Amino acid sequence: MIECKYGNQKRLFINHLGELIPCCYVNAEALNMGAGHPAKTLFGKLNTKYNNSLHTQTIQEILDGSLFNGIIDSWNTDTPVEKCKKTCEKKERDIFEDNFHE
Ligand code: SF4
Repeated sequence: MIECKYGNQKRLFINHLGELIPCCYVNAEALNMGAGHPAKTLFGKLNTKYNNSLHTQTIQEILDGSLFNGIIDSWNTDTPVEKCKKTCEKKERDIFEDNFHE
């Protein structure tokens, strides 16, 4: 299960290109693509396909658009956005059960 750290804190990330992205964790690839490198991950492909520039859209339009929804939808598939899985997947071992103080 993926628990979006930025989403849970109601945070977003705007990079120096003026792009609205969900968090700093995916920014490295966004910047690489801004420098002309091809997309390497699902986030990169979505970011290439769907406009997330605040120069041409409002925050709400981008939040309601296909980039953010594509990322969120991926969390319930076998192939979630790679960085989301790596950074924000909650594993069984992350759940601490305090049986010691019962
Ligand atoms: S890596 Fe994915 S799940 Fe984690 S904060 Fe960023 S968008 Fe949310």
